[in-house]
Amino acid sequence: MKVLMYSVSGKKYIGLCVKEGTLNFSLAWKIYSAENPNHSHIELLSNLDLLEAGLFSGKLFTDVYMHLKKLSQLEKCLEKREFTFEPPISGSIKILALARNYRAHARELGNEPIEEPIIFTKTSNTILPHNGDIIYPEKITRVDHEIELGVIIGKKLKYADEEDAKKAIAGYTIVNDVTARDLQKADISKQWPWLRSKNFDTFLPMGPYIVPKEFIKDPNNLNLQLDVNGKKRQMGNTSCMINSIPSVISYISGFLSLSPGDVICTGTPEGVAPIKAGDTINATIDEIGTLSNSVISEK
Ligand code: MG
Repeated sequence: MKVLMYSVSGKKYIGLCVKEGTLNFSLAWKIYSAENPNHSHIELLSNLDLLEAGLFSGKLFTDVYMHLKKLSQLEKCLEKREFTFEPPISGSIKILALARNYRAHARELGNEPIEEPIIFTKTSNTILPHNGDIIYPEKITRVDHEIELGVIIGKKLKYADEEDAKKAIAGYTIVNDVTARDLQKADISKQWPWLRSKNFDTFLPMGPYIVPKEFIKDPNNLNLQLDVNGKKRQMGNTSCMINSIPSVISYISGFLSLSPGDVICTGTPEGVAPIKAGDTINATIDEIGTLSNSVISEK
């Protein structure tokens, strides 16, 4: 089961991919919660609502699905209209990203890999849904793609050890940490933070789905592949991360508190390269799916 956000005529819904199709989870939830006094007062309009209510779990999605089947209401909740993908998470969240978390990628940009995590932030204006257009900024001469596994936080965390960090993961998604490489290099050479180069509008395509952690066999062994116009650019496996996912979450929680809905971008494998207006990018991670975006010029 995979979870998404989608819209029809501008109205947003939570979706759940099941073998019969895409379930309108917002409607399914109404039917389920009406008969469940524990949940009857909770309104769920987004994945962030689900996460903040502590309800984002493989078990709950399975329970709702089974309940609808039992009541013969599944068909009624299947989405039959054409829909647009929305970002799987948005709103008041933090986005923390890792630099150089794969040795071969650190080396391809002329950096020696180091063991301590290097963390930077991406701002929420960067988030772009599946099928959205990446806007190539007018004055920038090199923009690169970076496929990464995105981790969605499901609980409040402060000073967490790795065991608690692991328990706080809600699910996984695909992100493309788009980067204005020339601007980043210029800022690094001046010993400035590289915030500017990472935070142009649309520089974080994300989705199409969040897969609840219960449905990912082993997050430390997922293949990642990114193609541009059908040609392979990046290939890697999450087993090659320098810092493991729980260790990174634990590390971050040592200096800021993490909240439900926060996203950790876990670093990119080697093969980063420039994109240009007109390109189509497909970023695929095992067990999650393919995130597709095109590039358009700002001009
Ligand atoms: Mg990156």
